[in-house]
This record gives sequence, structure tokens and C-alpha cells, in this order.
Amino acid sequence: MTTGSAPEQPLNERLRAIAARMAPVLLGFDLAASERLQQHRVLRQRLVSMAVIVTIGLLAWIPIDLQTLPTPVASHLLGLRLGLGALVLLIAWTQHGATRLPPVVAIALFIALQAVGFAWMEAEIPKNADPLLRLGYGLFPFIIAAQIAVFPLPLAVTLTLSAPAIGLLLLPAWQGPFAPELSLYGSAWLLLLIILISAWAGSSQLLLLLDLMRARNDAAHDGLTGLANRRSAMARLAAEIAQAQRRKQSLALLALDLDHFKQVNDRHGHAAGDRVLIEFAATLRDSLRQGDLGARVGGEEFIAILPQTDREAAAIVAERIRERCEALQARRDDGVVIRLTISLALAMLDGSDVTGSLLARADVALYRAKREGRNRVALAG
Ligand code: GH3
Ligand code: MG
Ligand code: MG
Repeated sequence: MTTGSAPEQPLNERLRAIAARMAPVLLGFDLAASERLQQHRVLRQRLVSMAVIVTIGLLAWIPIDLQTLPTPVASHLLGLRLGLGALVLLIAWTQHGATRLPPVVAIALFIALQAVGFAWMEAEIPKNADPLLRLGYGLFPFIIAAQIAVFPLPLAVTLTLSAPAIGLLLLPAWQGPFAPELSLYGSAWLLLLIILISAWAGSSQLLLLLDLMRARNDAAHDGLTGLANRRSAMARLAAEIAQAQRRKQSLALLALDLDHFKQVNDRHGHAAGDRVLIEFAATLRDSLRQGDLGARVGGEEFIAILPQTDREAAAIVAERIRERCEALQARRDDGVVIRLTISLALAMLDGSDVTGSLLARADVALYRAKREGRNRVALAG
């Protein structure tokens, strides 16, 4: 495999690469569909956990209210706490099953609802209540701002989601200082600090999540051709075999091996050989249906998995790949055309097959195709 050292990138390209990496993290643009799906899955899980934690927190404070506040106030707050807890759990519930509210909307509701509920509770507390109790209620904006840190969201979204926390801090200040122990300036400073840390935490989680997904994707694909690699192809083959046997559907496996490829390298050089592999991989990909899988399982060895495909249809696909390979005109740098042929084997899944036996039958047939003169399709027995 050729791994020449990359030439020094010009500055504007480096900057563009950094911008492309940071745009999803700062603003939420340019997330691939699969990345967004995974992000949403994490957001949903975390929202459900956070809703349970918030509800437990809301209920756990009830004895303190009952001990420190006059009974009518405490019982009113009890009602508010139970109601708020129920609504928070309801929002979490929208993340299950069919009623899928988009997770960012659900999180915004979750935050806004707490801000409204907390503001309402604060308004119920008499001005002469125990200062420690008032201090506890004064912490609400900070509690909300800290929650946002667990969500892998772009910086801009996290900052927007923090607005209710700021509102909650300013609202009582407007009506006169709520918790005199916390000066407005000191509180605002602290809140801003927590919001910035939360936003940083959330966007770095998103960055890590995206890096992790890209690394996982890279690990499943061949670096030269971009096709699935051996490891992911074997996992997919095992899954397709299990499914086909469960549903009593047909499954075809093609094994493909380029003919005399060593000569291609010897005659035209390794770099040209690599280019041929890339072009053949594109041909293979174009010859398959959506739902099929083409994979590079060795140097110049490939397989194709064709689910729900009978022998006749699979033979047509195999023959088409053979013809297209023959017609392929890979060019060397100096314009010389490199001709190529391929040998293929077609094996149909039978009821007693496991991955190994199916691959072994394909291998035997492929060997036969080579022996009988190459550039042909052999059917496995
Ligand atoms: P046959 O028709 O019997 O398959 O002959 P062959 O020459 O294709 O088979 P063999 O297995 O002897 O040689 C395979 C060659 O594929 C050897 C190796 O140089 C080449 N090859 C394997 N991986 C790569 C690669 O990543 N890039 C390039 N350029 N060549 C590769
Ligand atoms: Mg080979
Ligand atoms: Mg070969």
C-alpha cells in the first residue's frame, strides 16, 4: 500500500478544514444524517435520565419546605413540585415510542418548564422565610444552567437554551432582590460562568461524538477504495445469513478476484495498481443494488453480498461485473491504458450454511474459475 507523506497544506486549506470541523460543533451545520441520528439518540437518553434526576430532586426537597414554611405555603409548593415533576417526566416520555418530539425541542421545553415552575415556586415563598431556604430557591438558575452541560449540542444551541436560566435570575431581581445573600452582580457573574462551562462541555461532547463516529466509520471501511473492509463485511454477511435463513429468503454471495494482478503491478507500478483497485471498486459499487454490499476482503479480492436475490438474478449481476471490468479503461499517468479481467464465483445460501461454509464453497468455485482460464463466472455447487 502506498503511503507517501502528505504535502504541506496551504494555510487557507488548513483554515477551511478547521472551519469544516468546527461548524457542526459551534453552529450545528453540516451534520451528516447518520451523525445527527446518533446525536439525537444520545440527547434522548440523557434527557430521560436528567428528567428522572430532576424529579427526584424536586421530591427530595419536600421535607425541607414542610419543616421551614407555614403549612399552607408548604402544601401549595408540594402541589407545584408534584405537577412540575409530572410534566418533566411527560416531556421525557415524548422521547419514547411513536410520539417523537425532536430532542432539541424537548430539551428546550424541559428547561423552559423548569424555569417557569421555579419562578412560580419562588413567588410563593414569603419574604421573611428562613434565609437558608431562600438561598436554596435562589440556586435554581444555576441548577438549570448546569443541567445543559450533559447534552452534546452545538455551542450556539446551548447558549440559546440557557436563556430561561438568565430570565429566572433576572425576574426576581426585577421585583426586588429575592435572595439578598446573593448580590445580583455576583449571581449574574456566577451564572454566566456556569453557562459558558456548560456550553463548552456540551460542544466538546459533540465534537468527541462526531470524532468517534468518524473513527468507527473509518474502522469499517477500506482506506484505499472506500468499500466495506473484511471485518465489517464478515459481520454483515453473518447478519444477512441469519436473516435470510429465518425468513426463508434467498441470498447470493459473489467472490471476486482480479486476474493476474501481480502482473499489473509489475508492468505498470504499484501506484497504477492502486488506481486500478480504486476504479474497479467504483465499478463494483455501481453494479450493485441499494441493500447489497460490496467489500474488499483482501489485496485484490472482493466479495458482494446480495440479499433476497435468486441464482438467475445474481448470475446476471456477476456477468455484468465481469463485462464492466473487461471494459474498464484505467489509465496510467502517461496515458497508457491498463486492461483488466476478473474471475468470479457465485454461491447461493442453503439452509444448512454458516458463514464459513458459504465462503468456502465460493472459494472452491473461484479457484475453478481461475483454473478454467479466468475472466469468467463459476457457479458453486
Ligand atoms: P490470479 O489471477 O491467480 O489471481 O493472479 P494474481 O496475480 O492476481 O494473484 P496473486 O494472489 O498472486 O497476486 C495478487 C497481487 O495483488 C499481489 C499484490 O502485489 C497485489 N496487491 C495486493 N494488494 C494490493 C494493493 O493494495 N495495491 C496494489 N497495487 N497491489 C496489491
Ligand atoms: Mg488473490
Ligand atoms: Mg488475483
